Amino acid sequence: MTEERLMDKIIDVCLRRGFISQTAEIYGGAGGFYEYGPLGTLMRQKIIDLWRQSFVLDEDRVFEIKGSVLMPESVFQASGHLDSFDDPLVQCEKCKSMFKADELIKKITGKTAEGLPLDDLDELIKENQIACPNCQGGLSKARQFNLMFKTEIGSTGGINGYLRPETAQNIFINFKRLAAFMRNKLPFGIAQTGPSFRNEISPRNFIIRVREFEQMEIEMFYDPEKENEHPRFDEVADLEINIVTREMQEKGWEKPMQVSAGVAVAEGVIPNQYLAYYLAMEAEMMRALGIPDTEFWFRHMQDHEAPHYSIGNFDLEANLSIGHMEIVGNALRTDYDLMKHAKASKSSFEIVVDNKKIVPHVAEPSLGVDRILYTVLEKCFREDERGWTWFQFPTIVAPLEVAVYPLMKKDGLAELAYEIHSELKDAGYLSFYDESGKIGKRYARADEIGIPYCITIDYETKDKYTVTMRDRDSMKQIRIPTEDLEVVLGELMEGESEFDEFSEINKE
Ligand code: AMP
Repeated sequence: MTEERLMDKIIDVCLRRGFISQTAEIYGGAGGFYEYGPLGTLMRQKIIDLWRQSFVLDEDRVFEIKGSVLMPESVFQASGHLDSFDDPLVQCEKCKSMFKADELIKKITGKTAEGLPLDDLDELIKENQIACPNCQGGLSKARQFNLMFKTEIGSTGGINGYLRPETAQNIFINFKRLAAFMRNKLPFGIAQTGPSFRNEISPRNFIIRVREFEQMEIEMFYDPEKENEHPRFDEVADLEINIVTREMQEKGWEKPMQVSAGVAVAEGVIPNQYLAYYLAMEAEMMRALGIPDTEFWFRHMQDHEAPHYSIGNFDLEANLSIGHMEIVGNALRTDYDLMKHAKASKSSFEIVVDNKKIVPHVAEPSLGVDRILYTVLEKCFREDERGWTWFQFPTIVAPLEVAVYPLMKKDGLAELAYEIHSELKDAGYLSFYDESGKIGKRYARADEIGIPYCITIDYETKDKYTVTMRDRDSMKQIRIPTEDLEVVLGELMEGESEFDEFSEINKE
């Protein structure tokens, strides 16, 4: 019997427990579209909040905007997306299945073919005798397929519109107003989170490659002559990051190199402080989300792999059960987009710096919420000797933080438990109340969805004003005074106290 894939086990929990399900499931689904249920939505929100706090709110000169999802063709004509935002498509001549040519080649030969010209892809398909994986039929020649979703704007269908394939373009086309808001002084960053759409040729791997996904992006505008004068670089200079250089890729690499952000810039491993600042910030965010350092790195993408607007990408890749996967794109977009839009709209996007007019350069961290969320699900998934599966989510991303249970419904225990649950909610905790089923079953249900702590209310709560608190990770139980509950929970969640510091009572 083949072992069930980790991704399938995760999908099973996600469907059963209200994390994620397919869009239009009752009508057979729509490829590449997923909906987030109650728990998935709470997790997404936490990921976005974490990003917003450290990448936007903690900064002085970064502000967030909310732009339109649908924009007129002129935007994407100028940005180059209409001409260049393509993937190479091959079709089976027998069963008509479509494949992304470079992905198919990688799957069969193990070699990266992203960004290669169509002729080279055809050659590789021929050389390696690659046929349709579904029916062994022959494959068509590769052709470019534009990934944008097209629609018409207005009742008379006068203008073509496209769903944005990245959030970034809203920021570039609003540059003049945004720069004025920032008093025309560099550097400054404009952030945006929201949905982006790509009509992927072969959406697959659950929420990893979908047609609608959520991005969290920042366009950081700086003076290219001061690319190593990031105002806060000192704060991240000592942070360690894992890097896979181009050289390492040529030689074949097993382990990324670990280097501090400061040394990486000083030795030219990362081109400038603006990009390195974000790599360090992203590494910190991944660690906070419970993804161990050994499981992700930044790969300097080869020239042909980088998007049309970037002179160099350092993408954050995670070691997932389905292979190495890009989770975050970090691009050096230079003045590419501003120049394109300036020319097409006949505007000037220059800013005066030290009595010189310049068009700022841009470093862009582009984080995908869906891929980050899947990485968290996979890296926190646990199976143990009890036959339970559970998620070891850090509190920062756990969809629910505490569950409150009356041992029994009778003798006023349910009312008392509900009161404690309400107080925890008022204090800002994501608390969940459940009174049905045996207590052991309720613990298992809580563990399955990664609730870090369970509080049980029993007869001693009535008599001695104490509650039982159970720790998901160690399964240890402690008894604490009801009035200390909020403080103890707070300390545990902030990492100020360890569960072991409290004296344990009977184990399950
Ligand atoms: P890119 O602009 O291609 O570098 O994408 C930036 C980020 O958006 C990626 O690192 C992903 O996290 C996310 N992303 C891009 N395409 C998809 C997709 N088809 N499905 C899910 N996430 C995506």
